[in-house]
Amino acid sequence: MCGIVGYVGKRDLIPVLVGGLRKLEYRGYDSAGVAFLKDDRLNVVKCKGRLTNLEEKLGGVSVEGSIGIGHTRWATHGEPSDINAHPQTNAVGDLAVVHNGIIENFRQLKSWLQAKGIRFVSETDTEVIAHLVNYYYEGDLRSAVLKAVKMLEGSYAIGVICLNEPDRIIGAKKDSPLIIGLGKGENILASDFPALLEYTKEVYILEDNEVAEITENSIEVFDTLGNRVEKEVFKVDWNLDQAEKGGWEHFMIKEIHEQPVAMHDTLMARLHDDRIDLSEINLNEEIIRSITGIKIVACGSAYHAGVLGKYVIENIGRIPVDVDIASEFRYRMPSPILSENELFIVISQSGETADTIAALREAHKKGAKVIAITNVKGSTVSREADFTMHTQAGIEVAVATSKGYLTQVLCLYMIAAEIGRIRKTITEEEYSAFIDNLKRIPDCLREILKEKGQIQQLAASRFSDVHEFFIGRGMDYALMMEGSLKLKELSYIHSETYAAGELKHGPIALIEDNTLVMVLATQEALIDKVVSNIREVKARGAFVVAMTMNRYAEKFEHDSDLIIRLPDIDDMFAPILAAVPYQLYGYYTAVNKGCDVDKPRNLAKSVTVE
Ligand code: GLU
Repeated sequence: MCGIVGYVGKRDLIPVLVGGLRKLEYRGYDSAGVAFLKDDRLNVVKCKGRLTNLEEKLGGVSVEGSIGIGHTRWATHGEPSDINAHPQTNAVGDLAVVHNGIIENFRQLKSWLQAKGIRFVSETDTEVIAHLVNYYYEGDLRSAVLKAVKMLEGSYAIGVICLNEPDRIIGAKKDSPLIIGLGKGENILASDFPALLEYTKEVYILEDNEVAEITENSIEVFDTLGNRVEKEVFKVDWNLDQAEKGGWEHFMIKEIHEQPVAMHDTLMARLHDDRIDLSEINLNEEIIRSITGIKIVACGSAYHAGVLGKYVIENIGRIPVDVDIASEFRYRMPSPILSENELFIVISQSGETADTIAALREAHKKGAKVIAITNVKGSTVSREADFTMHTQAGIEVAVATSKGYLTQVLCLYMIAAEIGRIRKTITEEEYSAFIDNLKRIPDCLREILKEKGQIQQLAASRFSDVHEFFIGRGMDYALMMEGSLKLKELSYIHSETYAAGELKHGPIALIEDNTLVMVLATQEALIDKVVSNIREVKARGAFVVAMTMNRYAEKFEHDSDLIIRLPDIDDMFAPILAAVPYQLYGYYTAVNKGCDVDKPRNLAKSVTVE
């Protein structure tokens, strides 16, 4: 959520700040602003709405050889408005702060500061930071920030500048990411990589409670006691063009089409001589033999990936898998239960999901070793987990995930295969066939993407629906959770996922004439059961769209209104293929409705608040 960019150097800093914020736009925001030093003054320009409004307000001003900070705000305390937008300043307006996160004790701090006669102008929690730093300021901005942040409870990534120290930006963080891009004669502070990739690929990643002092030619990082911390340079391996639309109308459709490559890269990174190598997550024979169960904890689509992973791992590896939503797991009363010899896996595309990070820490408290599956190297999850499996999806910009989700699923398939091989719950031949099927996936996805016209047509005929159902059994049910979420997120159509056999226990009451029921049926052993479920809803007037592989299609001809055919692949791998038509369906439905596809309302890319 939200974004921070800070710049110190010789360039005109307005394009650097606004351009950087634009690269973070996808995270969702409702207002934007910048503060910079010019003509011996601290200038603050901010407003509600999009970055274009901010640019208009800036009126083409150029600010060279100075310092500045910028912010896109995703309101948590106080409505989106000009006043509540960041930067927030001290009373005299010579010190400015941008902040991502939430200050949980802001009320107490606000009362304390008000009792000292300080007047607040905004409703934000952030304003207390500006007044606190000012309160502690005695001629050294870094010490003032150090003292101020010690008072803060909650999460923050901040950038601070002041008129008295015109050559430096101070950054600090806790539970919200902040990085510093290393330039030559310039340095950039940012809350995420895309904001600075244009200028450098070498960064320092700040850890919790660190404070950084950034000038044109130096970056110094300090711990809470004010001692210098030596930082390692982290090299980013993403390209800038991955963060650009490259001719596509939306990032969402671009990223859907990037899935064949993302899946290929994620697989090939671990495949050596047709064997999966999971040494990066230390899943060796000894560990795999000793585990008695697996717990997967995640949020949103990553949680759905976990549910699909459960079916695959239980099927192939014959080990019980428990999947939990991170915000539920972390607050299990009186505390979450982790059994000995249970493998603990967290999944987060961004690696910054607040609830998932909290679950990871909870597991560490209980002495568990944590494996993470994430797309972002250097993210909090990847740094804090004991072992990390990086999905090779490249930057995902659209708020609703596509390639992020599918590569997570692939990682879980690979884990399942290794468990099965080592525990001998599958034969060597089955293992080889499993790998062959995984290798076929990119081409099958390409085939599906070529046939998108059928989905486009369906979306064009159903975009005025009010609600729809997504049903399936077993792995298909797990996949439908994600299919349904895509439709909700992108097009705001209410959709329910149900296990097909569960529909008759209540929700079938909602089926009426022409209600769309999406049915996924790729598991041969369950097809007859699903066909019966189709008959149940057809009898009540439903419009049924069935998806299955070519070879099973005729079984659905009699009872379905439309059949979407997937390329023939072993049943086990068909749900992976099925993800794509549902992503396309959500996408085209949203386009038909004129929705903001890449930045759906109320949503943020990485959910850094709980
Ligand atoms: N809590 C702050 C506010 O509401 C910061 C929100 C954000 O992270 O953008 O202003």
